Amino acid sequence: MIYLDNAATTRTAPEAVEAMLPYLTEQYGNPSAIYSLGSAARKAVNQAKRTIAGAIGARPEEIYFTAGGTESDNWALKAAAEAYRDKGRHIITTKIEHHAVLHTCRYLEGQGYEVTYLDVDQDGLVDPAALEAAIRPDTVLISVMYANNEVGTMEPIEEIGTIARAHGVLFHTDAVQAFGQVPIEVDGLHIDMLSASGHKMNGPKGIGFLYIRSGIKLKSFLHGGAQERNRRAGTENVPGIAGLEAAAVRALGRMEQKAAKERELRDYLIGRIEGEIPYCRLNGHRSRRLPGNVNFSFRFVEGESVLIMLDRKGICGSSGSACTSGALDPSHVLLAMGRKQEEARGSLRLTLSEENTKEELDLVAEELKEIVGRLREMSPLYEDFIRREGRQRSEGSS
Ligand SMILES: *Cc1c(COP(=O)(O)O)cnc(C)c1O
Repeated sequence: MIYLDNAATTRTAPEAVEAMLPYLTEQYGNPSAIYSLGSAARKAVNQAKRTIAGAIGARPEEIYFTAGGTESDNWALKAAAEAYRDKGRHIITTKIEHHAVLHTCRYLEGQGYEVTYLDVDQDGLVDPAALEAAIRPDTVLISVMYANNEVGTMEPIEEIGTIARAHGVLFHTDAVQAFGQVPIEVDGLHIDMLSASGHKMNGPKGIGFLYIRSGIKLKSFLHGGAQERNRRAGTENVPGIAGLEAAAVRALGRMEQKAAKERELRDYLIGRIEGEIPYCRLNGHRSRRLPGNVNFSFRFVEGESVLIMLDRKGICGSSGSACTSGALDPSHVLLAMGRKQEEARGSLRLTLSEENTKEELDLVAEELKEIVGRLREMSPLYEDFIRREGRQRSEGSS
């Protein structure tokens, strides 16, 4: 099997599994208990908080563990909207956010909030000037993702943070794809809230965190016990938290070498596809791009068909976000980038890890070339297109 779907989820690192095991077995104490079995668990949670906080230049008391990126996004948006509703009910986000943000915004619209969904350019970049122009006296929250999960484009977070701060508007970023991949420093970037998830960075699933800058008064997301400083009730997911910490330590320790390796593999695969498969187009910004992201549209083919045929060869990819796979909806991200329906449907995302090899990518490039060729042979649209091209060429030469 060749796994190229690391934006959907990653292989759990052995370090993370090992860190979790004691808390799944002997160290089963409840962190709220006062006997030593409990305090061992409490220590693990506090230690993880210090590690995570250190990773983004925050303080431990600003880190809240959640059940993953989706919960962190929901909490940040809903709680900020509620907390500042007397100041205003306007929220700014973008058209290319993950559904965890977009669908939460739709929900808030139903609750009487107004949401501006910013356009992006053809590379998927948000324009900071357009963002600034959208700010109104009643704007209470700006939410822009750090890096896009489909096309890998990295947004101008520092500029956006600076604008938000200058206007006194809260700034949240969904950094699920970026945390552990690129260095993040919340103060320098003027980030007020940040969402991250364990399973996108070789940690376990069902665990993540939300950073909330101290001084920001957000209500609890879950009501119940006094865990997480009264803001997120429920007995802590101690094994998950230990696994998340170990994954973060691992990712931070090898961030540069991992990114360099992935970038090299990424650019190699992009080069082979562009060089050998005609009528394709790279989606996403060429350089401001996550190290492991490759995303192409192939004309005259459906992304779903390519995926199914790749799967028969043991190659795992995606044709958009995991949330829409199964449905034949074209990607909302590609449509926002101005791609035609046809191009948005013919897209393929391959997201690499440092564990992939050049040999694997050679095989993928060969298979892809053959699959796209075979699918095009069956396409009446492609047949028409080639006939017209041929006619034009012979007219041009006569
Ligand atoms: C995966 C993902 C999420 C959701 O995270 P979960 O931990 O799976 O809930 C949110 N935002 C982005 C950008 C993602 O890639």
